[in-house]
Amino acid sequence: MSTLLVKHIHTLVTMDDQRREIRDGALLVQDNVIRQVGRTQEMGEIAVDEVLDLQNRHIVLPGLVNTHHHFYQTLTRAVPAAQDCDLFTWLQTLYPIWANLTSEAIDASTQMAAAELMLSGCTTSSDHLYIFPNDCTLDDEIRSVQAIGLRFHASRGSMSVGESQGGLPPDSLVETEADILKDSQRLIETYHDNSRHSMLRLVLAPCSPFSVSPDLMRESAALARSYPGVRLHTHLAENKSDVDYSLEKFGLRPGDYAESLGWLGKDVWHAHCVQLSDAAIQKFAHTHTGVAHCPCSNMRLASGIAPVRKMRAAGVNVGIGVDGAASNDASHLLQEARTAFLLARVRDQSAIAITARETLELATRGGAQVLGRDDIGYLAPGMSADFIAFNLDTPAFVGSHHDVVAALIFCQPPAVDYSFINGKKVIAQGRLTTVELGPLIEICNRLAADLAS
Ligand SMILES: [Zn+2]
Repeated sequence: MSTLLVKHIHTLVTMDDQRREIRDGALLVQDNVIRQVGRTQEMGEIAVDEVLDLQNRHIVLPGLVNTHHHFYQTLTRAVPAAQDCDLFTWLQTLYPIWANLTSEAIDASTQMAAAELMLSGCTTSSDHLYIFPNDCTLDDEIRSVQAIGLRFHASRGSMSVGESQGGLPPDSLVETEADILKDSQRLIETYHDNSRHSMLRLVLAPCSPFSVSPDLMRESAALARSYPGVRLHTHLAENKSDVDYSLEKFGLRPGDYAESLGWLGKDVWHAHCVQLSDAAIQKFAHTHTGVAHCPCSNMRLASGIAPVRKMRAAGVNVGIGVDGAASNDASHLLQEARTAFLLARVRDQSAIAITARETLELATRGGAQVLGRDDIGYLAPGMSADFIAFNLDTPAFVGSHHDVVAALIFCQPPAVDYSFINGKKVIAQGRLTTVELGPLIEICNRLAADLAS
């Protein structure tokens, strides 16, 4: 058993049920769990194994939760031919490049994406891997994330309807539905951990309406629901073409299509939902279906602006997702939260559409709820020890010390100073402790060049 006391925190943002913000705060951690939250002077004289004295120079908050990503795309950012495309042409441009992915590329791009996320404040992420050419498997990604120490929800994605069947991806990139289901079951039985403070859970995630069949959607749902805590995830209502495809192919709007497949429920979350109808928003709220809001990608691909304020007002669980690194083209979660904040105000042309604190809530509690977790998202006794610290003596915070909590969103500091995940210090004084960035960057750039050629 080991204990850690983090003390003299300038502002401790708990995000707990009372939304307490504590000046000169402290956290007591035992192994991977938070035991006490309060003011430094309340902690008394306790003997601990390690003390981190932040000297009233940091703001500390729960680690941020990323609800949608495609880590492998880190090797194909800003590809010239795909810079000025909308969703379908962007995909069709990149599929042939992604067809050259290897196990080594999955491993390296995963670590790079995880590193970027962690430096930007993320402590839990889901990832959606739906393409398995050559020797690629989800196992590569899982091992890679375990090594860097990020809390992880691994999605076994899939594509089964190729061009010849009226789908979008080339036939060479799709798998048979029998193989997909067999591998999904193998992965759940090998890796899924539904215990409290779990570092790894499995998700089944057929890619999108235009790349899988209704049958695979139904069978994936049945398989996931035969195991406790295995959730369902896919892309939905991303842009107008996506809605048109759904109407033409299935005779249903995306929300109704999802409902017809059994894909609404508290164990389901959908990425984007830019073009979700008002009726579907109500259905999402009533069924506790979650949404991953990915504003940068939606702007980059000219998909539109998701009606986040309307969703929240209706009671829909919304989290933030950076989306894949080829349509963002970054993996900076705090930046994504800031973008969500600004874009919500643009959409409604209202300066009260969302506040900075509500935005932080989306990125912490909101994301935790979307991923079905009750052990992360806020700081309180019994919660997982996932927290991040930003140094206030940095350029981004200058002139904002009257409200450093709002400044996190308004001013967007570039990187965390400390990050703890499951009680382990994964970033110290701005440096990752679990991976050497220099060699990793070199490997990724070599692999990216190989893919591009
Ligand atoms: Zn996506």
